[in-house]
Amino acid sequence: MTVTRLLIIGPPGAGKGTQASKIAEAYGVPAISTGDIFRANIKGGTELGQRVQAIIEAGELVPDTLTNEIVQDRLQQEDAAGGFLLDGYPRNVEQVHALDGMIEGDALDAVVLLEADTDEVVARLLKRAEIEGRADDTEEVIRHRQDVYAEQTAPLIELFTERGILVSVDGLGGIDEVAERIAVALSAKLGR
Ligand code: ADP
Repeated sequence: MTVTRLLIIGPPGAGKGTQASKIAEAYGVPAISTGDIFRANIKGGTELGQRVQAIIEAGELVPDTLTNEIVQDRLQQEDAAGGFLLDGYPRNVEQVHALDGMIEGDALDAVVLLEADTDEVVARLLKRAEIEGRADDTEEVIRHRQDVYAEQTAPLIELFTERGILVSVDGLGGIDEVAERIAVALSAKLGR
């Protein structure tokens, strides 16, 4: 069995979630979003949800130990045996090392970097705020999430470049246009 382990990375508002489901479908793997897992728990009022709600609404990162544990559990589920597409994890160097420890051999086969400039993504998120009303989509929190990305997540780009697994794609354009760009770049990288 070919196992395909992927990650999509990029600033908040770049459109990772939308593209994640398309990539996951194309490779027949589950899309696993830590943000979605947290939001589902907040909505369901679970103990985990109660622990993370204030952190997420402030645009801070949930503590690594908690996040790592949740991902480890999720990756052990049967549907992830043939691989996965991670969205929103790993988000800092610590989490990269944790993921490396969860998997034998290479943790990731390819990392898709969805590029979009800050003004564009902030504008997109403000628009989404009107439609979806996500609690962490206020202007102040959006700006803070961008800062957290720049400080903690953006350094991973260099790390994945050094590992030779980074694929950069321009995230500006229509959904299908961007999806096509990703499909082409990713299959060139993976050879499948
Ligand atoms: P976005 O990329 O648009 O900010 P996400 O859905 O990926 O949205 O994440 C929303 C929030 O969930 C983050 O701001 C953070 O509080 C929390 N979160 C998601 N993934 C992680 C992670 N890997 N580590 C810590 N916190 C996380």
